[in-house]
Order: sequence, then structure tokens, then C-alpha cells
Amino acid sequence: MAQITDETRPLDKSLHDKIEHLKPQCEKCFGLCCVALYFSKQDGFPTDKSAGTPCPNLEADFRCTIHEKLGALGLKGCIAYECFGAGQQVSQVTFAGQHWRLKSVSADLMFAVFLIMQQLHEMCWYLSEALSFQVAPPICEDIRKALYETERITQLSPHALREFNLSAHRTKIKVLLRNTSKLVRSEISRTNKVTFKADKERQVTEDFFGRDLRKKDLRCADLRGACLIAANLEGVDLSGTDFIGADFRDANVRGANLSQSIFLTQAQINVAKGNSATKLPLSLFRPKHWDAQDNTNE
Ligand code: SF4
Repeated sequence: MAQITDETRPLDKSLHDKIEHLKPQCEKCFGLCCVALYFSKQDGFPTDKSAGTPCPNLEADFRCTIHEKLGALGLKGCIAYECFGAGQQVSQVTFAGQHWRLKSVSADLMFAVFLIMQQLHEMCWYLSEALSFQVAPPICEDIRKALYETERITQLSPHALREFNLSAHRTKIKVLLRNTSKLVRSEISRTNKVTFKADKERQVTEDFFGRDLRKKDLRCADLRGACLIAANLEGVDLSGTDFIGADFRDANVRGANLSQSIFLTQAQINVAKGNSATKLPLSLFRPKHWDAQDNTNE
């Protein structure tokens, strides 16, 4: 596991602990993502199944029988899914260690709560990431308050969580993250002497599917929600680029510099094609299957 701090984005201990808390700990989870979600073979899962049905590869003890082979089997849906620690929170805190196979537990309620918790934990992750950029007041105070508030919501009872108005809360957080992104990108562009065109932001509809982007200057660009599937970003400097919600499936990031990219998640990195020359933010780790790609020189 990579060290989480670096000289450009020092984290205090409490922020470091918050981010650690948002990393999945499958051994403390009752296999919730492998049961609660609907998924299809076409999206890189092992089978087509409805929400609430266990994946056939899930053991009685909630372990995945093929976990070590997910990459080799091309199960990108499983590799890409990120619960941000919601699985262990729901299993161990919200339901106090009671699993969904017990008669005393409402499996439907547990699965519904897991889907809500995943979104709350994702918000906590982005807010923690936003705090790590150390933006100036008053926005840093707003981020801190929003993080505190979201953490408080994650502690609610199962029924209160199910009733919670998630969409109103998400809208508030979205605005905050967008404003943080603008500030951070403008600051990184100033230190890197990159022209920052805040008034000419990329249209969200723009799609980079399969495109060769090696000659494009994407530093400090707004690539929120961008479709980067199979795009070629080999060797590209992506400092200050905002990747929130971008789709990295099969994007070639070999040798790319992502060390100062904004709002990049482990799940995005897991489905991209990188190598030992790819520079990552220190909060993310290099996927094991990248080494195999290095060796086969794919
Ligand atoms: S293959 Fe494994 S990781 Fe993927 S859904 Fe099934 S049990 Fe979960």
C-alpha cells in the first residue's frame, strides 16, 4: 500500500485516518456489493443477476472464490466497483455484525442501506480529498462542515438512512466540490504556468472514447464525467486535471503523470491500463495486474 502523504499535499493525522476509514475492508463486510447490486455480464461481471441475489462465486463465509483471478478473467465490473468502505460500515456498525443470511435481519433493508451508504462514503471520500488540497477559507470551512455532516449521517439507524433525502444532500456537495475544483485547478495552473480557461470549460458532453490524446494539453482541464474509454493518454501530463466521475475503462495511462490529478479514485485506476512509469497520487496504489501488463508488454 502506498504512503498517503506527499510534500505537496501534506495530510494531518485525522484526515489520513478518515481516508483510511474509506478504504474497503472486504474481510469485515458480508459480501454486500456481490449481493445487493444488480449486474450484467456485459458490464464485466461474471453473470447477469438481479439486485438482492448473491453472485454464484460468493462463498458461505462471504468471500469471493475467484478474487485472485478477477483480472485474468476480465471481470472489470468487479474490479471497478468501489464501495469506499460502505461495506464494512453497514456490516459492522449499522447492523452491528448481524449478516443478511440471519432470519432476524431484513436483508432487503440491509441492501437498501448499503446502496445509500456507498454514496455517502463516496461523498466523504471526495470531501476528504478536497480538504487535502488545503484551499483557503471560507471554502475549506464549508468542506469541513459538509464532511462532518455527512459522517454524522452515516451513523444513522437503518430506517433513518433509508428515509434520508440523499439527492438534496448530494446536490449541496456537488456544488462544493465543483467550486473546490475550480480553485485548485486555477492554483495548480498558476504554479505550473498553464493557461487556465475557467470561462471556457469543457462541455460535459464531450467524449474522448478511443481518442489519441497524447498531443492534447489537458493540464488543469475539467474532465468531470468524461468518457475516456480506451483513450490514449500515454505519457501525458495530467497535473491539475479534474477526473471526478470520468470513465477510465481500458484508457492507456502508461507513463502518464497523474500524481497531481484531482478527484481520481482507486476504482478508476484499477480499470485503466498503466505501467511502472505511470505516476499516481500517493493516496492511490498501483494495481497488481499492471505488473502483468508490463511483463507481457501489452
Ligand atoms: S465474482 Fe467475486 S467479486 Fe465479483 S461479484 Fe462475484 S463474488 Fe463478488
